[in-house]
Amino acid sequence: MRPFVLVNILFVLALLGIDILYLTGYIAWWWLLVVIVIYLHLLVLGAIYIGWNFYLYSHNKGKSTNAIALSFDDGPAACTAAILDVLKQQNVPAAFFTIGKNAVANPDLVARWHSEGHLIGNHSYEHGFNFDWKSAKAMLQEINKTNEAVKNITGVTPLLFRPPYGVTNPNVAKAVRLSGMQSVGWSLRSFDTKAKHGDVLVDKLLRMAKGGDVILLHDSMPVTAEILTEFITKAREKGFTFVRVDELLALQAYV
Ligand SMILES: [Zn+2]
Repeated sequence: MRPFVLVNILFVLALLGIDILYLTGYIAWWWLLVVIVIYLHLLVLGAIYIGWNFYLYSHNKGKSTNAIALSFDDGPAACTAAILDVLKQQNVPAAFFTIGKNAVANPDLVARWHSEGHLIGNHSYEHGFNFDWKSAKAMLQEINKTNEAVKNITGVTPLLFRPPYGVTNPNVAKAVRLSGMQSVGWSLRSFDTKAKHGDVLVDKLLRMAKGGDVILLHDSMPVTAEILTEFITKAREKGFTFVRVDELLALQAYV
């Protein structure tokens, strides 16, 4: 049972309990407000934290004690080529969760992902701010359009989907289910999109990384390209090995 279902059941039971206790004069009316506020908070936090698996199950972390996986979202983007150069030099396989419209605009980089042994995942077509307000049908159309774009360039159809912004809700859950894809989240969020200093970012990643981690990065960020060699080198010195996310999570990458 998803936590969302459990929370709904508990919410209804709490409402019934409060009604009875209020009508029998044991508690004040404002307990109703307390329960509603807690309930709404849980719905929002469940949407924000993909690791809660609140509305749908996402694969977020592997079981390995020393293997970790790099994942890059939102490309092909400004720094994709530079990141690919580093990954090639360091012989590290990674995953790229692509925005479909960016894939269509940069087919050469998508082809490079595939030919250089990286995994291509689906990260919606538009990645708009309104994605999570769309109907499940509209989300499914975006997912299918991106899979189509990747297939046209590489010949393979992705099976792994990462929700835009990592936000989930009942419609995202339904769209993923209808698409037949698996949702992949992360266990270590780098916040590279907000990083101002590369050395701080490297230190944070090295301090926080644990075996089995799926690390969220963005190939749109210059700072990510800049620190990648140093991070890979130092992580290896700490005993980590880099594997592709599908291997780490034991998932099938493509149809
Ligand atoms: Zn994204």
